[in-house]
Amino acid sequence: MPRPILATIDRQHLRHNLARVRHFTGDAKVWAVVKADAYGHGLERVFEALRAADGFALLDLAEAERVRALGWRGPILLLEGCFEARDLELCSRLDLWHTVHCSEQIDMLAAHKTQLPHRVFLKMNSGMNRLGFKPERFRAAWTRLEALPQVDDICLSTHFSDADGPRGIAAQWAVFERITADLPGERSLSNSAASLRHAGVLQGRNDWVRPGIALYGSAPDHQSPDAGHWDLRPAMTLASRLIATQDLDTGDTVGYGSTFVADRPMRIGVVACGYADGYPRHAGTGAPVLVAGRRTRLVGRVSMDMLAVDLSGLPQAGQGSEVTLWGQASTGERLPIDEVAAAAGTVGYQLMCALARRVPVQVLDEAV
Ligand SMILES: *Cc1c(COP(=O)(O)O)cnc(C)c1O
Repeated sequence: MPRPILATIDRQHLRHNLARVRHFTGDAKVWAVVKADAYGHGLERVFEALRAADGFALLDLAEAERVRALGWRGPILLLEGCFEARDLELCSRLDLWHTVHCSEQIDMLAAHKTQLPHRVFLKMNSGMNRLGFKPERFRAAWTRLEALPQVDDICLSTHFSDADGPRGIAAQWAVFERITADLPGERSLSNSAASLRHAGVLQGRNDWVRPGIALYGSAPDHQSPDAGHWDLRPAMTLASRLIATQDLDTGDTVGYGSTFVADRPMRIGVVACGYADGYPRHAGTGAPVLVAGRRTRLVGRVSMDMLAVDLSGLPQAGQGSEVTLWGQASTGERLPIDEVAAAAGTVGYQLMCALARRVPVQVLDEAV
């Protein structure tokens, strides 16, 4: 029998989450963001479920080739644009839309020979200071692009730094509106957090939204409100089993460094999942885990191939019991990946992207 660890990708949940995003974003077209191999879920595994999107957005040219190889003829957007001049040849050949965020990318386009003019997303740095033209440089960049025969359509985009937090989007949005008010072209502003949390103020302002994390069923604002609040369902479940149990006396310790000390006699279970599977090593005692669909806690340090869980109050649990590290148990009980991430001081994004190659993956699709 193989080691009993398994990741499951639920296509019905992906479809549901895409519908939830559309519920919030009205008539806006949706770029399904599938960068980082679909946030660790696997491009080929999620494609069928997300093909109801209007386009796929990603970073890597090799990933764009994979989406075309799956038969997708619709729009594909390169979120960081081209990295060097010859990338434009692939954009022409695969008909990719690409972000233009700096003057070097305009230079490359001006030197590019193509029969088919390109569609570009001109990006404004409205305050995040990652990619894009500063507001005062934006119009000059637009004018230069507009004059190029290599370009036939210019969409306007920006990215919010605080759509998921208390600062919100107001300041960045005001800058974007002021500079672009009289420019033609479609607009693309919202990631998942802006699509859900700022749906009201941005209603009708986006021609294209760019949700990523929400499609995978993680809350765009982490802990409060959680994924359940938005009615998002986990696309990924990481599950394993108990491969041993131990009875502890008062004073016994668990795992490397003996960081957990039993303060009473208790029983623990040993789970076939460790940091080499992608479970975060920084999750410590108290991190939530489901055993046979019931909530309990991790105890002690996570090791490479195993971790330990508290079986107090779970007398039926034993060797072979199902353990859900995140996602949905076979009982239907859910453990949001965001809760596990919070216990490890990180975000759900990082956990899903870090699912290890050694973990076998199964695709669930009740519609087929
Ligand atoms: C990754 C990314 C997104 C998606 O962000 P989520 O928080 O996952 O919704 C949207 N826009 C850009 C430019 C991105 O790089």
